[in-house]
Amino acid sequence: MRYAVFSDVHGNLEALTAVLEALGNEKVDRYLCLGDVVGYGADPSSCLCRLQEREAVIVGGNHEMGCIGKLTLEWFNPMARAALLWTRDQLSFTDLDALRRFPLTTTEGPCTLVHGTLRHPERFDYLVDLAAIIDILRLCQSLFCLVGHTHVPCIVEYDRLHDRLLRVLLARDELTEVGFVNDPHRMRYLLNPGSVGQPRDGNPLASCAIIDLENQRLSIRRVPYDVARAQQKIRQAGLPEFLAARLEIGR
Ligand code: ZN
Repeated sequence: MRYAVFSDVHGNLEALTAVLEALGNEKVDRYLCLGDVVGYGADPSSCLCRLQEREAVIVGGNHEMGCIGKLTLEWFNPMARAALLWTRDQLSFTDLDALRRFPLTTTEGPCTLVHGTLRHPERFDYLVDLAAIIDILRLCQSLFCLVGHTHVPCIVEYDRLHDRLLRVLLARDELTEVGFVNDPHRMRYLLNPGSVGQPRDGNPLASCAIIDLENQRLSIRRVPYDVARAQQKIRQAGLPEFLAARLEIGR
């Protein structure tokens, strides 16, 4: 079984297309998406459609919750708010209905999926410090805890039986690959696949991950895509200029 794991597509169809093509070459069995399919980018509806075609398992992110009114506009900064109002106008009733059905957490095989944190999925806190990450890994009932939201890819390996943090890896390189121990009684892995459509770790390449159960390998890949085209569409849509500019620096 091979799971494709990705997050924070943010309406960037060029990045999503490149990532799905790269993942397609890896003979993936199941697509797991950690939320924020929409928001910021110029193609929210098409991105949603691409994921539905692949029957992706999707949990809701803060941008989905904003679109369907489950998070208030005050939650968002002014730029995100402007993008959210624009995005909501682009979505059909069917699209909005699909967003309403996204759960905040779900499990799929050995994976628990959430956009922000398992402790308070509805608050969309940013999981950035190690104490909070360990707290989440203690809480998680499955081998893998898959999170998004920060747009920064990383892998954390934790031995819950001996309360030992074994490894923290950031994944700026083109390929970061590690083995894992398939022992859900002892081990926990936090995997943040980074962001498909708006990376913020200083590397502008789209980011995604693969969990290969058979070979017990976990990898994060960076995929080049047509950044100029995605920027052009954002500008043409009249979305805030910063949303276009940041794509080329990955911040
Ligand atoms: Zn996001």
